[in-house]
Formats: sequence, structure tokens, C-alpha cells
Amino acid sequence: MKKIQMVDLKSQYDKIKETVTVSIQEVLDTNAYINGPEVHKFQKSLETYLGVKHVIPCANGTDALQIAMMGLGLQPGDEVITADFTFAATVEVIALLQLTPVLVDVEMHNMNISLEAIQKAITPKTKAIVPVHLFGRAANMEAIMALAKKHNLYVIEDNAQAIGANCKSTDGTKQKAGTIGHVGATSFFPSKNLGCYGDGGAIFTNDDALAHTLRGIVNHGMYERYHHDVVGVNSRLDSIQAAVLNAKLPLLDAYNSARQDAARKYSMAFEGHKNIIAPQICGDCDCHVFHQYTLRIIDADRNGLMQHLINKGIPCAIYYPIPLHSQKAYADSRYHEKDFPVTNQLVQEVLSLPMHTELDGEQIQFITESVLEFLK
Ligand SMILES: *Cc1c(COP(=O)(O)O)cnc(C)c1O
Repeated sequence: MKKIQMVDLKSQYDKIKETVTVSIQEVLDTNAYINGPEVHKFQKSLETYLGVKHVIPCANGTDALQIAMMGLGLQPGDEVITADFTFAATVEVIALLQLTPVLVDVEMHNMNISLEAIQKAITPKTKAIVPVHLFGRAANMEAIMALAKKHNLYVIEDNAQAIGANCKSTDGTKQKAGTIGHVGATSFFPSKNLGCYGDGGAIFTNDDALAHTLRGIVNHGMYERYHHDVVGVNSRLDSIQAAVLNAKLPLLDAYNSARQDAARKYSMAFEGHKNIIAPQICGDCDCHVFHQYTLRIIDADRNGLMQHLINKGIPCAIYYPIPLHSQKAYADSRYHEKDFPVTNQLVQEVLSLPMHTELDGEQIQFITESVLEFLK
């Protein structure tokens, strides 16, 4: 059996080596290292893939979130509601811009931001909601957009973990996660569902005026050469990273299907087990692209299971072990433990198993058998 890895970028690369090499060589031969044709090509291809009017490439997913918030003109003191159970980047940029982060609880069934909790947290100072499509599963955007509209709030989607996922509305129409809010942000960090070979990110919007503003902000606030109309940043997607992404974007749907296949196999093995709550696998809606395959281990020794798997050479991880509201940097006297029952429970129960595009049946069987062996 091939050695099991949490993310197997090497095996994936081996299969696409030639196209990636040709694509990168083109950048080297033309010396178009910054904002070269590869970047423009990727921007256009991603706009088509996502069905969104504007993609603004940038340096990483954290910048993408920050620039999105700058583009919306959010001001110090404005309150921005986001999920307590996510990677720190989401709340970090809110705090960096001197906006006021308001962390709220998530829902147990999909681990995404709770609508009820958002509703309770809205004040006259609230300006935006940042839903995170956590672990690859699309949040309930239809309901979030309706709530935002009612209260006149911006919605900034953190789509770092769910590129390619579909959000299905009640009338049956599908839209890609990240393209439904006023603005969306994603990351091309190597281990993400669409990863480059370094850092990369992008911002999405269907709003022409906002797209124009964002394109200036990523480039030192310049709309005309050496005219700086606003305070901007330097945040660019390298041409070499764009070349990698041009080679990989045509494979994204196949990559996401491979993740969904692995998830289906895992979940079949765990079905009905008294100690395991596996992520819901839905039929054809593609609302979950399994950036992570995350179990809840209930009434059993989750940490013991983790050690058992590691001893057997199976990497696994706890995403995330500490709620953001309990982190030193983001703790606030406004928060009360009773307001975060779900996050507080999830951090005790979650366990993410190896998930990537190269998992084979033999590896999955070994992993599921090892989990079941410990839980009996
Ligand atoms: C990875 C990630 C980010 C940040 O992306 P970087 O490209 O690493 O800056 C933001 N939010 C979430 C939920 C992420 O998983």
C-alpha cells in the first residue's frame, strides 16, 4: 500500500508534470513574471468556470478577504459577523482593518454559520456577514442573502475551502459558492481544492463598480499609472502560479469528484456506527467538495482514536481545536460561553481523516478498518 498522507500533492503532480512544465516554461521564456498573459488567461478561465462577471487575482486568500472588505468601504468600528468555527484568517483581516469582529456560533449539521446566531448578533452597527463554506460544504447562501437584504448588510463569502461547490436554491437553480454574496474570496494555497505551488488567491464579484475598485486596491490604489486615488496594497498572483493554475483548473471538477468519491467510501463504511457522525453526502447537488472529510466522534475517546490512527501510520488532524472566541487575539468580554454551544462541542468531537485527490480504495479501506477497530 502506498504511504497514506493527509494531502498527497506529489502523486497529483506526477500525473500533470508535463502540462505544468510547459505552462511554467512559457512564463520563463517570455519573462512576463508579473501580471503576464498567464494571469489574464487564468482570470478569464476562472470567470467562465464560476459563472461570475469578475475575478480579481491576488496574492493569497487572506489578502483576498482583506481587499474585499476594503473594497466595500467598511470603516473602523463597523461590526462584521462571522463564524466562531473557522480558520483564523477570516477574523484576522476583520481585526486588522479595525473593524469589529462579531463571532457567532455555527450549526451542528453542516458546521457552517448559524442563521439564528447571525440574527441575534445584528445591531445598528452591523455592516457585513462573512459566511465560510467550511471544509468544502456550501453554507445556506439563500437564507443568508435574504437576511442580509432585510438588514441591508454586505455578504463576503470566504470560499477558500469550497471552490467548485454548488449552492442550490429552493427553486432548483445552482450557483457556484463564492459568487452569490456581494463579493467572494478564495485561496490557492497548495492544499486547497484548487492549489498552486506557492501562495495565490482571488476575489470574485458580479458588481462592475466594485470590481473596478478592487482592481485598483490590489495595485497600490492606482487606477491610472502613478495616480493613487485610494490607499491600496500590493497583492498579485505571480505569473508562474497562474501558469500552474491554468494547468490545473481544467481538472478541478475531476479533482472534486475524486474527493467526493473518497468521502462516499468513507461514509459507507461508517454508516450507522453509534460513535461516528459522518458528514452528510447529498445526491447530485455538489454542495460539498470535501476540502476536509471531518467526522464527529461522540461518546468515545476522540484523542485516543487519533493516536491509534497515527500509530498505524494514518495521519489525521483536528480542524479546529480551539474556538476563535477563546483565542487570545480574539477573546472579548462581550462573548459568553453559553452563546457558543455548538462550536464548544465540535472542538471536542471533530476529527479530519486524510482527504485528497489521490486516495485509493486500499488506503480508504485500511483507514476505515483502523477507525472501526478502535471504536469497536
Ligand atoms: C486557507 C484559508 C484562508 C486563507 O488563505 P491563504 O491563501 O492561506 O491566505 C482563509 N479562510 C479559510 C477558511 C481558509 O481555509
